[in-house]
Amino acid sequence: MSQKINGVKGMNDLLPGEIEVWQFVENTARTLFGRFGYGEVRTPMVEDTALFVRSVGEETDIVGKEMYTFEDKGGRSLSLRPEGTAPAARAYIEHSVSNVEPVSRWFYMGPMFRYERMKTGRYRQFSQIGAEAYGAKEPAQDAELMDVVVQFLEALGLTDVTLNINSLGDDNCRPAYHAKLVEYLNAHRDELCADCQQRLERNPLRVLDCKNEKCQAVAGAGPNVLEFLCEPCRTHFTDLQRKLGALGIRYVVNHRLVRGLDYYTRTVFEFIASHPALGTASTVGGGGRYDKMMKGLGGPDVPAVGFAMGLDRLVLLLKEGGKTFTAQPDLFIVAADVDAACQDAALALTSRLRREGFYVEFDTRGGSLKSQMKRADKSGARFSLVLGGDELRTGQAKLKPMAGGDLIPVALGSVAQTLRQAASQPSSPPSLKTRE
Ligand SMILES: [Zn+2]
Ligand SMILES: [Zn+2]
Repeated sequence: MSQKINGVKGMNDLLPGEIEVWQFVENTARTLFGRFGYGEVRTPMVEDTALFVRSVGEETDIVGKEMYTFEDKGGRSLSLRPEGTAPAARAYIEHSVSNVEPVSRWFYMGPMFRYERMKTGRYRQFSQIGAEAYGAKEPAQDAELMDVVVQFLEALGLTDVTLNINSLGDDNCRPAYHAKLVEYLNAHRDELCADCQQRLERNPLRVLDCKNEKCQAVAGAGPNVLEFLCEPCRTHFTDLQRKLGALGIRYVVNHRLVRGLDYYTRTVFEFIASHPALGTASTVGGGGRYDKMMKGLGGPDVPAVGFAMGLDRLVLLLKEGGKTFTAQPDLFIVAADVDAACQDAALALTSRLRREGFYVEFDTRGGSLKSQMKRADKSGARFSLVLGGDELRTGQAKLKPMAGGDLIPVALGSVAQTLRQAASQPSSPPSLKTRE
């Protein structure tokens, strides 16, 4: 026997039975983003490695340690995309979109790849959904983007979510803060974890992100970025908060929120959910403003704000919720006789009803009446219908409510009509009985 080949570590298969919750999340996203005027963009999984080096930054863990980078047969350095913002920006620039429309709103969803240490809910191929708004530097755009996320999470039934916001300033005011932070952290160098002592050299803002308790204590007592904001940055941040208030979005100002990436300017934000399935409160998504990235990638001077959210953990939350996402058949058709006429008639009736829009199951293996009934039971179908010689001769059959209740007589020519009537009365056998 040949040796079995397994999937790649950290990359999962999604089989029917599990995919439905994903489809629910994806469909909800498409509806919600559509309502806000965000169009879907699909970029390739593979990009020029330089794109991520220049946008995400060489000093980040993502680019420094976690990318799947390889050389193709033409000797180009390519990488599997570790995130979606840079590819979307690359596409925006490449297609000169800013020449055609002053403001563009895009969303994307799909797999991203990072070679990370394995943890629950963390995979090397993981799924992200994100949105980017290009062309508007106003705080109303930041607020609108946060509103999409809030409404998306609400539509998924996740309401126990807190929005954290912060402003990182801009080129005008950040340098002063940066200098003060480095001075402060250097004075407390010995209290920081080994990782943070390294970060101090390369990307001191990242120290504020550290999960280590001692580092958090040091960061918490350090300089507050908000006190360094210049007038325009402060106005932007105050306006944003007023708009969030107008939208009825609850938020917390968290001056230690930095989001770990180099490219943010002004607004950064994170959505934190508390849920038993995730352990303690944990970040489900976040983003920020990146007004300088387009220019940095050789594109036009176009401001942008975006967010991204991991779907794997959202799906985990929804699964814990105990809701069923798998579709139940409307009808299971049972062929009572093994003869060809009966089998063919059952298959044809199944097909006809499917064309009418019903989800109908039929056992293609044939088999005994008993085994088919068992299958009908297991399928979770709402009704079953037995088709045998008698039914074919008289043109009359009976719908059996699988949850119990009286049989409903039905003419074989009007099964669709009867099913439709039953569907408009979702409660149960008793209501059907009253109708008789
Ligand atoms: Zn640390
Ligand atoms: Zn500023």
